[in-house]
This record gives sequence, C-alpha cells and structure tokens, in this order.
Amino acid sequence: MGNVDYDPETHVIRSNLSVQVPELTVSEYVWQYAHKWEHLPALTCAIREKVYTYGEAKGASTAFGVNLANELDLKDGDAVALLLPNMPEFALAFLGSTSAGLVVSTANPIYTAAELGHQFGDARVHVVVTTPELAATSRAALPDGAVVVTGDAPPPQGCLSFERLASKSTRGARVPPRPSLDSMAALPYSSGTTGKPKGVVLSHRNLVTQLCQLHHPEVFNNANREGHPQAKSLAILPLFHIYGLNAVMNLALSRGHNVVTLPRFEPGTFVRTMKKYKPNTVCVAPPLLSFLLQSPDLTREDLSELRFAVNGAAPAATSVAKGLTEKINNPVNFILKEGFGMTEVSCCAAMTPTTQKNGVKYGSCGMNVPLSEIKVVDDAGNALPLGQTGELLFRAPNVMLGYLNNEKATKETLLDGGWLRTGDMAYIDSDGYIFIVDRLKELIKVKGYQVSPTELEETLRQIPEVLDVAVVGIPDEKSGELPKAFVVRKSEQLSKESVVQFLEGKVAPYKYLKGGVQFVNAIPRSTAGKILRKDLKSL
Ligand code: AMP
Repeated sequence: MGNVDYDPETHVIRSNLSVQVPELTVSEYVWQYAHKWEHLPALTCAIREKVYTYGEAKGASTAFGVNLANELDLKDGDAVALLLPNMPEFALAFLGSTSAGLVVSTANPIYTAAELGHQFGDARVHVVVTTPELAATSRAALPDGAVVVTGDAPPPQGCLSFERLASKSTRGARVPPRPSLDSMAALPYSSGTTGKPKGVVLSHRNLVTQLCQLHHPEVFNNANREGHPQAKSLAILPLFHIYGLNAVMNLALSRGHNVVTLPRFEPGTFVRTMKKYKPNTVCVAPPLLSFLLQSPDLTREDLSELRFAVNGAAPAATSVAKGLTEKINNPVNFILKEGFGMTEVSCCAAMTPTTQKNGVKYGSCGMNVPLSEIKVVDDAGNALPLGQTGELLFRAPNVMLGYLNNEKATKETLLDGGWLRTGDMAYIDSDGYIFIVDRLKELIKVKGYQVSPTELEETLRQIPEVLDVAVVGIPDEKSGELPKAFVVRKSEQLSKESVVQFLEGKVAPYKYLKGGVQFVNAIPRSTAGKILRKDLKSL
C-alpha cells in the first residue's frame, strides 16, 4: 500500500515512512541551520518591504524573548498572546517567546474585545504583542496585562516597544531556563468536536514532530535545492492558525526559505506579490485556490516558479484542483497537494503523497503522515475495514497533550490508547488514501475559519425574545459553509434582521449569520437534550 501498512485484523493503517525527531525545542529546530543562511533573507514583509536576514531574525527573536521575560518578570510557562496580522515580527515574537519558556496563544486580529477577553482569561495571558492599531482592543481585552506594540513609532502610552525589546542587548539579563520538550509551547484555540473554543495544548515535541513529518520528501518536499536560488514561501494563510504557524512559518524557516508575509488577502496586493516574488511554495485554503485558478491577472508565467501549492483547512473542489494543475501545466516540477489537518495535531494528519503510483486521486487528502496511525470506527467505536465510512481516528506524537484546564473535553476527544477523535467522517481506499466525506462534529468552517455553533447560540440566547436557538453550517459555494440560525421566538415581534444584527460588534464578521435565520416551532433534540443538527440541516 505505498507509504502505509494495513493490519487486516485491527484495521489500523500505519505509515511506513521513517523520520527521526531530534530532541530540540521549536526555536532550536527552526534556527538549527540559520548559520548556513545567515545573510539570506528569512522574513520579508511584502507591504513594508522590510527584510530580516536569518542572522538578524534569530538574534532579534532571542533578544525579544529574554528581554520580555526579564522586563515583565515572566516565569517559565507564563502565557503571551500574539494579536498580529501576518508580518515578520509574528515569527520573531513566537520563536523568541517560546525559546524563553513562555507559552504563545495566538488569536485572530479581527476578533472583538469580548472574544479576545474570553481567550486571554482562559489562557491566563500576561502580555499581548500587537500592532499600534490594535493596542486599544488589546487593553480592553486584557485590562490588567501588559501590551507590547510593534512599529518604529514610539509606542502608545503605557505600552512597551517590540523593536526596543528585540534590539536591546541581553548582556547581564537573567537567561530563562531551556524549556522542557514536553512543556506547552503553543496554545491556539479550537472548538474541537463540540462546544466553545478551547485552548489546544501543543508541546515543543508536538510541534517539532510535525515539522519532521512534513519534511519527509513524500509529504512536503520543500527543502532548498542545491544549485537553485533560495526558495521562497508565501505566508498568506493566517499565522495565528496552526496551518500558517507550523506548516508555513516554522517549516519554511527551518529550511532556509525567504518567508514573504502578506497581512491579509486583497486581490491587487496578492497578484502584485505573486508576480514580484514568484514563490516556490504557497499554502492556501479553498477560496485562495479558486483565486489562483480564476484570476486572469495571474498567468501561467506568473506561476512558473511554483513547485508546491498545498490546499488545506477545508476540502478543495475537484474542478478547481484539476483546473489549477492544468493552468500551471508543469507536471515535472509542480504538484498540488491536499492536506487534512486539525489544530489538535499541530497541523497536518494526512497529505497527498509526492509519488502517486496510481495517478492523482482527486477528492482525497492523501495518506497519513509518518509516525502516525489511523483507523475508521463505527458509532460504537469498532474499527471498520477499508472502504467503509466512519469516524476517522488518528494517533501520533504530534497529537496535542489535551485541552487547557478541560479534562472533560480532553477525555471525550483523546480516547484510551492515545487515539484522537477527528470528528470527521471518512473512508480509506485499498491504496491507503483517505477520503473525508462529511463532518460529524458541530464545527462550521467559513473559508477555512472555525465557527463554533455553541458560541453563537450562547450569544443569541441573550436576545430576550429568543426561547431556543440552534446554529448549523449550510453549504456555500464561495465560503464552503455559512452559519445559519434556527430560532424559536417568544414573540412575533422578533424579526430575522434583528437576530442577524444582534451579532454585529459582538463576534468577528466571518461568524455572522450569512446563511440566514429561520423561525421554527421547536429545536429537534435527542432525549439527552443534544441538538439534532443533522435534522436541522435537512430542513
Ligand atoms: P482546524 O483545527 O481549524 O484546522 O479545523 C480542523 C477541521 O477542518 C478538520 O477536522 C476538518 O473538519 C476540516 N478540514 C481540514 N482540512 C481538511 C481537508 N483537507 N478536507 C476536509 N476537511 C478538512
């Protein structure tokens, strides 16, 4: 079965690709070859055109971590939040903080102060690293914490300057102890299979294992090539999401790429950046994959240096995947890969293999990554043979340690024996290729971004005229899914528009009820009181 072995008795599929995981922290791993590329660009902001070489980036990030810990008297394991758009300083802050033994919780910069307040409180954040524009929101979300602000201008009153911390000498400063490899390094938030967003505890070992898995040539063969110019990766996927953080930023830096950052998707800037830098690797989610195909401004010539495009976060449409491969028309050097992943696995659980013995299998997210096992189980947890559909379970050293301070959710998700419930319905074909066919869990994905129905339902219950409410995702061609609310109202006075408007300013715009509102007489529930979301979806 190619890169995997199947046990017909247990129905477990094990990767047979070999990978060594060194005993390094995430920053040690990322910077391990930095001396080789000391004078080459490591991080380039496509907007400001600011460049940090490998020598500068490693130095600035280390200084930032040491100086931050010293000035704020932070201890091993204290949490730092990053509220930053994609920019070089994101990488410096992440790698510097984790090298100083601090835990980094990443958040979407378009979140409201209330959304951030929930996360920062839950994660016990001490300090937020942000931009001048977001300093006030950060303050509102973390009234008792410190705020560090990027940029060359003097920081707003009461805030610390990122640039000063990253450029100040560390001579005489207390050197934070080297973090243990099994201690928490990153704390992104995910709603998992059910409920509100939870802190996903990822250790140094989790993150480094994933980087080693991704580096296997069958998974993501993007090393700098001898005799070729320095490779370039475009960082357009949000770095606050595990996909951008580990599979784009950390991965590309650990292999000496020039990581070109773009803070947001805006068609003109994106096209200009693609033309100017001609990246070799682009990781995208479905909307951007469609744009690469459909934009008349991006010609085959503009994409001629592309060796890898990886789609993840949500499934690619076969027509788009085929169309883009045809548009690029470079079968020897270019491969479009589909990656399936979760925040809970430090990013990626499966990927299209580089060597596709039986041809391209559209609709599949490939095979499970090295050092991992998978199986498909029925409702009762019994393993199913190849070809049968059930819930996909995953086991590997890149699986999270658990959800922060949430034993119940951890137990429901991480089963005995270390199997992680993905909450996705899948089958595996006779070549070991995984096909995700449906989502069992409640999670809604809008353009690849997570929307927790529980979070929206809790907010909508605050409307006095709402008796009961349930939110589900409905299919949408452009966004993948859109949140739709089913509402039982107490009075006919409540209009659909006022339900939609109620969320404005309370949650990030991509969570708005763009799938609409429908009034119903009752929300279908199981005898245990669980919302029967499937029944609502079929309405
Ligand atoms: P996140 O933790 O935000 O990465 O979300 C993880 C979830 O996104 C998975 O459990 C899937 O439901 C969905 N997902 C990620 N990648 C894919 C893919 N390639 N195909 C289908 N669903 C995906």
